Formats: sequence, structure tokens, C-alpha cells
Amino acid sequence: MPAKKKRGIKKRAAPRARQKGPRAPADVQPATRRPVSDTVRRRVILEIYDRLLDPCGKRNWWPGQTPDEIIIGAVLTQNTAWRNVVRAIDSLKAAGLLSLPALARETPEDIAPLIRASGYFNLKARRLHAVAEFFAPGGRSRMAEIESQETDALREALLATHGVGPETADSILVYALGRLSFVVDTYTTRVVTRHGLLADGSRYEAIRAMFTRHVRADLAMYNEYHALLVWVGHHYCKPKPQCAACPLARRSCFATAAAWRALADARSE
Ligand code: SF4
Repeated sequence: MPAKKKRGIKKRAAPRARQKGPRAPADVQPATRRPVSDTVRRRVILEIYDRLLDPCGKRNWWPGQTPDEIIIGAVLTQNTAWRNVVRAIDSLKAAGLLSLPALARETPEDIAPLIRASGYFNLKARRLHAVAEFFAPGGRSRMAEIESQETDALREALLATHGVGPETADSILVYALGRLSFVVDTYTTRVVTRHGLLADGSRYEAIRAMFTRHVRADLAMYNEYHALLVWVGHHYCKPKPQCAACPLARRSCFATAAAWRALADARSE
């Protein structure tokens, strides 16, 4: 008598974890989850620059006529769209306060209503006043003294100023003071992590260090690279990425072809 077949309990496949957040282009997804070598990272970083410069051209960043206006804009742009900053800057200009010495002579309470359009205006008024005091204590500019400071020391001093985080400090250094530093913003972080150059959740300083290690130490290039990342982030690399139209995902570009093959080769080395 044939042995009775055991009735097995069919195992159900575990449900697949839902992917959180936006996805990178499908064909680069597997590669993005593994570590890449510095050689490949450098190649991809330079390729990103070339691929963006080609369709986009030079951005002539940052919008602002004077170092003071750029510094003021760098504070006002925190957590708001640039069009709101423009309205606040126009309002400061109309009041004759579009300079750091002039702002240092005012109180935060006097500044706040003028920058209402930029949002968080009470907070930003205190920050703006602190930054104005840093550059022009008591309303007397100390730009000449600041210009003689080493960049690292100046960055530290800016970071110790009320309301100045790394993005604001680096924006001021590069675009207002012409110092060699690299600005990282939300767009930069998205492009870098979605293309697997660094892991998700990488911190500001790690991303900045990666760019300063691999991009030629040249102020014009640092300036332009950040502006190009802002451009691609604003138009394509949004919270929901628009890879189909993005220059970084064209069929002939690195994201879907050569460099990603290089990534795979490097991993098997
Ligand atoms: S939108 Fe562009 S930059 Fe962002 S993940 Fe897609 S291809 Fe990359």
C-alpha cells in the first residue's frame, strides 16, 4: 500500500516590503544599493557635471548684485522659495536696508515686517541681524578683516553665528566671499543618493567632503556645479523624480549606460 502522502502546509511568500520614498531609475536601482569605489565615484561625479552643463549651460549663480545682497539672500532663502526672497529683498531695498551695516544698526523687531514675504520672518529677522552683526558689528563693516581670514576658520566662525547652518555658511563663502567651499542642499543630496554615490541618509559634511575630494579645487567649478544641481533638482529630481525627461537618465548618458556598467565592473574587481 503506497504511503499516504503527507499534506504539506503551503508556505506563503512573505509580503515584499514597500519601497519608501522616490525611486531611482529602474535600471540603476540595483547598482545604487552597493558601495562604489572612489575611482568610480569620481568618474560619475565628473560625468554628472558634463551631462548637466551640456543641456543647461552656465547658470551665473548666485542672483545678487553685491556681497551684502548675496549674504542677506542666503539667510532669507532658508526654507522658502526664491521668489519669496526676491520680494523680501525688494522690500529691504525700498527701506534702504539692503546692506549689512544698515541691518546691524536696526533691531530684529524693525527688520521683521520688511521680510514678511520670506516666511518665518521673526526668526529670520533675528538671524539676519546676527549675521549683519558678524560682518558689521555696530554698523561698521569688518569685511577687510574677514577677507584676511583662512577659509576654514571663517567657516567655523560663520557656523558659530546664530542661524547659520552649513548650507548658509557655504553659500556665503562661495558666492559672496569667493572662497573655495562646496554647497550641499536638498537637491544635491537627492541626486547623490538616488545615483548611489553615497548611502541614503548621508549627512551634509560627508556629501560636501565627497565633492571636495573629487571635483577639481576651482571656485568657478564649485560655483557652477552647485548651480547645475539646483537646476536639475528644481526641474527633474523632485520628491517624485522625473527621470524619463531628466538629462541624467537619457539613454546615452551615464545613468543608464557606460558609467553604470563601470559601477558593475568595479564591484566585481
Ligand atoms: S530625476 Fe534625474 S537626477 Fe533624479 S534620479 Fe532621476 S535621473 Fe537621477
